[in-house]
Amino acid sequence: MGLSCASIPFLIPNPPQHQKNEEPKAEKPGAPSADTASEGPSPAAVQPDEDDFALALGEAPSPRGSEAQEIPSVNSGGIPWGPAAEIEVPGKMIRVALGQNVYKAHFNASESVTVKSASLRDSVAFTGGCSVALKSRGRITFSRDAGGRFEATLPCTLSTIDTTDCIGYGKERFRGAIVLSGTESLLVVNLCSVEAYLRGVVPLEMGKRGREEIEALKAQAIVARTYAYHRRGQHAAEPFDVVKTVADQVYGGAGEESPACDEAVAATRDRVLVWRDSLAETYYHSTCGGRTASIDEVWGKPACDYLRSVNDTGNGGAVFCAGSPSFTWEESWKEGDLSKILRLTSAQGSPGNRFSGTLKKIRIDDRFGCGRVKKCVFTGSRDSLECGGDRVRFLLRRNGANGPILRSANFTVAKNGPRSFTVRGRGYGHGVGMCQMGALGRARAGQNAEQILAAYFPGTELRTVMVAGARER
Ligand SMILES: [Zn+2]
Repeated sequence: MGLSCASIPFLIPNPPQHQKNEEPKAEKPGAPSADTASEGPSPAAVQPDEDDFALALGEAPSPRGSEAQEIPSVNSGGIPWGPAAEIEVPGKMIRVALGQNVYKAHFNASESVTVKSASLRDSVAFTGGCSVALKSRGRITFSRDAGGRFEATLPCTLSTIDTTDCIGYGKERFRGAIVLSGTESLLVVNLCSVEAYLRGVVPLEMGKRGREEIEALKAQAIVARTYAYHRRGQHAAEPFDVVKTVADQVYGGAGEESPACDEAVAATRDRVLVWRDSLAETYYHSTCGGRTASIDEVWGKPACDYLRSVNDTGNGGAVFCAGSPSFTWEESWKEGDLSKILRLTSAQGSPGNRFSGTLKKIRIDDRFGCGRVKKCVFTGSRDSLECGGDRVRFLLRRNGANGPILRSANFTVAKNGPRSFTVRGRGYGHGVGMCQMGALGRARAGQNAEQILAAYFPGTELRTVMVAGARER
């Protein structure tokens, strides 16, 4: 029997908010955290998957250099990770779409970059910067900053001789290779190891953190790794596995790496969360507000044992995410403004469930066990609209119909004067899976990564990914 929830598609973008102890950013695709500025290059705490990388590019594996660092086999807290059963994956590389529908691009590297294409008998290289432009259908021109041009047909692969070097694209730098493909426009993809990808994800999902929060970073690394492998398995026929925005996981490349996050990625290398022999669906969110949500309550999906509502509280009832700036919040609208927002946002939903007229009353008729709204009625001058679950957040947008969605579906309503509405709520995000601010609170309280994950994904186990067939080689 398969999982009751193993086949749940990621219909709703997993919108973890990348926050620190500051106001979370807008919850919409393409809203990277602006408060996670680069610290510049950091020590290569994670050994690149050189063999895997070479195989992906169709080359013979290269011997590891003498400077290769050993990956720690124990976590930083000194607690050894026990031996874990393995779970097969097709490979350990991931394809991250950096740009779609691109016509021009600029790449650079401190070392020589090799360009390979079926149309190039021998590989061609450039050093420093190089502009790329789509010349005609499926054909591109490379123009070296230092002078000199050449053409190639798509797809093309750009890689550095030393796979620990990065290739700059725009204002960011990426480990691994860059693959250019497409016909009418360019698709720019970063092909790198999942471990290298995570080094550019964890800092943006959790912010800059100190050693006292390393166990939360490890939990985030495992959750993000599991998500990455899950996505990787879903899009084998597509030209990329994930995008670099909040629609999947925010990825900033090598420029965002930080020592603490590198350490968390290295200490959990290859570890993923598994439930009944399948990769778990590791949703996560910023702040649960005291209790996480069940997936069936939020999105109407089948109930799932490990994605059920759990209390985010410790001994004595203290809430682990209470330090979040979005633990409690308040939102107010003028009657006319909210009426306009509802008219527009309800039109984006299912037909026949529209709001019209002027909003007169908001009434909450029912709640889920976790406290989030199950049934909310918006009574207008012409008709009424019913809504519940996470969708209510997409109706009650802040700052206008195109503004960020409501922080959470756990709120109460107060009529704040004759012509305005106020809601007071708790938490930020959909509430399913790991509460990121709670994970940080648990780490500060002394919990390790395994305990944190067991709290938010009860019944799951940690396993080590192994490339299918690797043992036979
Ligand atoms: Zn929480």
